[in-house]
Amino acid sequence: MLKKSTPLTSIPTSGHGHGSCLSVAAAAAAAAATAAATAAASSTADLAGKKIQSGRELSFVLRASSDTLPTEVNLRRWKIQTSAVCCLCSQPNPTTFHVLNGCQEALQQGRFTWRHDCVLSSIVQFLKDNVQDGSTIYADIPGFQATSNPPSTVPPDISLTSARPDIVVINRNKNRVTLGELTVPHNSKQSMCNAKDRKANKPNYLTLIQELGEQFDNVQYVTIEVGSLGHTIQSDFHASLKYLCNANVSKQSLRVIMQDVCKTAITCSQSMFSRRKLSVWSSPPLSFYSHGKFTSRVYNPP
Ligand SMILES: [Zn+2]
Repeated sequence: MLKKSTPLTSIPTSGHGHGSCLSVAAAAAAAAATAAATAAASSTADLAGKKIQSGRELSFVLRASSDTLPTEVNLRRWKIQTSAVCCLCSQPNPTTFHVLNGCQEALQQGRFTWRHDCVLSSIVQFLKDNVQDGSTIYADIPGFQATSNPPSTVPPDISLTSARPDIVVINRNKNRVTLGELTVPHNSKQSMCNAKDRKANKPNYLTLIQELGEQFDNVQYVTIEVGSLGHTIQSDFHASLKYLCNANVSKQSLRVIMQDVCKTAITCSQSMFSRRKLSVWSSPPLSFYSHGKFTSRVYNPP
């Protein structure tokens, strides 16, 4: 007899028209419309849930939001150089968006993946401290994969799927599995909502969820979006982490982890921007914030 199969649960979203989502758009629009640092600072602080502590991080976010970073376009506009092409892919007129989210060569080189994995590491560190007793965490970062050849986050005794969710939390005692998928999109409201929709409807994930539903009483699938400049939709972010933990998590802990992932995304974007002219990329160790502190860690196998 088949056990109860729980259909795909894309996390109960605040909705694209919800206030928290609108606040992202409002902040982005406000920041783009004016370079007034005070106004942008206020919006950014609100979205991060807490003021970004480091002046360096805040300065980067403000300059990115007001398009005053030394992009190739701005360097030409400021008459510091005569041409404006991406140093990696030679695309003309590369913007901040191109450097942080759009460059296909940067994507191929693994720059975006490195930032994604740093943010993922921050989340995994949080899960280690907060998941329900008896749970096992698998994640698509070294030391947390279920199998390494080929890498997988789904244990082979459960499924031989080719799908590789970023996070899989399994509690065999409770007959429960929760899948999580992280995206670090551009900061705009539309990009974040698009990322959520795209991930929620990935065909191979839908197949995997159906398969898991034959084995587990409770199957959940959540998405997490963290903007490349540290924006999150707070209600969605908190809800997704609560599902993954399936345990009581204090508001204080949720507040801290949201700060941690925001600051991790910003720090990584800042590093990527500062290295945008280097044609060769070698991913640094995964670096991230945890409990408010910056750490660089090489994971050991569990
Ligand atoms: Zn490029």
